[in-house]
Amino acid sequence: MTYIVNDKCINCRHTDCVEVCPVDCFYIGENTIVIHPDECIDCGVCEPECPVDAIQSDTDPGADQWLEYNKEMSEIWPNITMKMDPLPDAEKYADEEGKFEKYGSKNPGEI
Ligand code: SF4
Repeated sequence: MTYIVNDKCINCRHTDCVEVCPVDCFYIGENTIVIHPDECIDCGVCEPECPVDAIQSDTDPGADQWLEYNKEMSEIWPNITMKMDPLPDAEKYADEEGKFEKYGSKNPGEI
């Protein structure tokens, strides 16, 4: 089991979760972050930290589709271990549906 980041993070990227992770298993893309499923120890402390509910257990309904994405991107994106400012339009995108289809990106983020 692992936790994963779903597409609610896209264009928000608050990173409150990153600060609390005991094993530093978050990786950053240009408009989102992901969790490395093989590094996550399934402690669950990050999940309530996300203000847009983008983190869920891979056992939750609908989480399957994000597991492969988190695995793939965490192999190529840089590791992030400290909280950063959210993206500038985080408020605007907080409740938008279908963000992956509209804004999904495989480009790495900058720390
Ligand atoms: Fe890190 Fe725990 Fe969240 Fe996994 S569940 S990403 S180990 S804080």
